[in-house]
Amino acid sequence: MKKSSMEFDLHTHSSQGSACSRMNIWDLIHAACQKGLDGVCITDHDYCWDPRELAKLHKESGLQVYGGIELSTSVGEILVYGVHQSLLHLRADLPKLAQFVRESKGVMVAAHPFRTDFALSPFSREERGLEPIEVEVMCRRSIFDFVDTLEVYNGRSCQEEINAARKATKILGKKGTGGSDAHSILSVGSCVTVFDAPVENEAHLVDQLLNGCIQAKKKEVSRNVLGM
Ligand SMILES: [Zn+2]
Ligand SMILES: [Zn+2]
Repeated sequence: MKKSSMEFDLHTHSSQGSACSRMNIWDLIHAACQKGLDGVCITDHDYCWDPRELAKLHKESGLQVYGGIELSTSVGEILVYGVHQSLLHLRADLPKLAQFVRESKGVMVAAHPFRTDFALSPFSREERGLEPIEVEVMCRRSIFDFVDTLEVYNGRSCQEEINAARKATKILGKKGTGGSDAHSILSVGSCVTVFDAPVENEAHLVDQLLNGCIQAKKKEVSRNVLGM
């Protein structure tokens, strides 16, 4: 029977491209298959995978495997999909980066956009003695002028951070994605993006992130936010 929707983990790190990851690419693929995902995007830090290598992995595993880049910029980390070359030379120039990604038929997603406001902490801002945050004010940050979409569910985010990102998608009129941000096999698939139309290829995935019907979803609660 043909699938009516598909689940992808859009944010994962492999040990090949991210020094902070303990997971090699095959462990990542096996974990994603085991968890019943339809696809993964490998979004290593400032690292660009060779799409031919990923196409080979796709063919060998049956799992859709696409590359992405988690690019560090002065306004926060940005997940870029659909672009197959290093973007390091553009990360200091957001307008140019956005233009280049658009022309390359890619898409930009603000990764865990409120991470610095909430930190990787299981405790709320109130519990940490911090003032509550106005999401409306945070939405005026310049990063949101450039990204197409926001990452709402990130496997390492606390609930407060997720709530703020959800609210921000409504204020900004942008879609929300989900991804585990897994650095080890246990976390793969903890948060996903559900594509209402089955993903046919990478271009179709990008098109759906821009124009399609997607939902971000948290699949399991992490017991240790910091231990992922
Ligand atoms: Zn990140
Ligand atoms: Zn990440």
